[in-house]
Formats: sequence, structure tokens, C-alpha cells
Amino acid sequence: MVDDCRDPLAEAADLFCEEEMDIDSIEKSVADILVAIGEDPDREGLVRTPHRVAKSYEELLSGYRMDPKALINEAVFDVAYDEMVIVRDIEFSSMCEHHMLPFIGKAHIAYVPTDKVIGLSKIPRIVDLFSKRLQVQERMTTQIAEYIQFVLNPQGVAVVVEGLHMCMMLRGVKKQDARMTTSAMLGVFRDEITTRMEFLNNISRGASSLHI
Ligand SMILES: [Zn+2]
Repeated sequence: MVDDCRDPLAEAADLFCEEEMDIDSIEKSVADILVAIGEDPDREGLVRTPHRVAKSYEELLSGYRMDPKALINEAVFDVAYDEMVIVRDIEFSSMCEHHMLPFIGKAHIAYVPTDKVIGLSKIPRIVDLFSKRLQVQERMTTQIAEYIQFVLNPQGVAVVVEGLHMCMMLRGVKKQDARMTTSAMLGVFRDEITTRMEFLNNISRGASSLHI
């Protein structure tokens, strides 16, 4: 749970800070869905399914209640460094809010510090903070960029996300390579084409295509 919901890091993260997820209610609802499908919720394989689904939601949607202060955990340092920092190929999984089906992929993130840097392992945690929610990929991309901007006040932030959406691969148009790319460019990445190109060239070098 979040220690202090009024902390600026928590407020900026757009959390469901004060209420717990209602696991019992999710279990009951999943049991209703099983009946609605025509299944027997008491048969052996399904008896514990409502509980398993509820527990998996707790994990898959944990981003609403992550404590950003604990996550960032004193890992912001004052450093006189103003070259680009790039973290590539950060794996994520999220849930599409339109179908409640997963989308998975990779995020590539860069920033140009002003006077602060963050421990590299914390950047994937910031991705988790926003990906472990019901999302659309566009909003997730923007939220990650704006949060890094808020935490570090850098000269700029760039986020590119590539996602494979199960809702497009398995149903509807059934496109097996339903890859979507979204980006958010703030500060120098928006204003200076050379900075933006340096980042985009870096992440395209040796990039392998997404697969499951
Ligand atoms: Zn969808």
C-alpha cells in the first residue's frame, strides 16, 4: 500500500490510493461470468478459477496502488551530467481497457538530465507503475514520459512503446502482427530534431521485431 497518498510523487502518479482492490467482489463477478458462459462453476477445474482470476488481477493491475516513493526510493541523484541517458528494450505487460485483454511489448526511454539522474533499475519500475493498469497504449506512453519529467525535471524525455495487442491478434480483425508504436517527446526531444534523431537511431539499431 501507499505510505502517504498526499506525497507529491503519489499525487502525480494518478493512483487509486485510498481503497484496496475488492478481491471478493471480483471473485463473485468471475463466478457469474462462468455461469453466464454456460459453464459449471463447481466442476473441478473451475472451482478455484474465480479466486485465481482475482489474484491475477491484483498483480496485473498493481500499478494503481504502487508506492512511487518506495519505488524511487532515494534513487534520484544530483549529478553534473547532461548527455542523453537511454534505456532500451524494457519489457512490459499491460491490459487493454477496451477488452481487458493483455498487450505486451517493449518500451524505450531516454532523457537528457538537467542536474538529476535516476538509478537505471528504477526506469522499468516507472513503466510498471503505469503499465499495470487498464490502459490504452497512447495514454500509457504519455504518462510514463510526464512522470519522468516530473520526477527529474530533465531537459527532455522521450518514450517509444511497441506493443502487441491480444485483442487484435485473437479476435476482431485477427491480425497476427498487430504491433502498435506510440511515442511521447517532451522538451529537447520535441524541440530539437538532432536530439530526437539521436534517440530514434539508437533504438532502431539492432532492434529485433516483437514476437511472442
Ligand atoms: Zn482492446
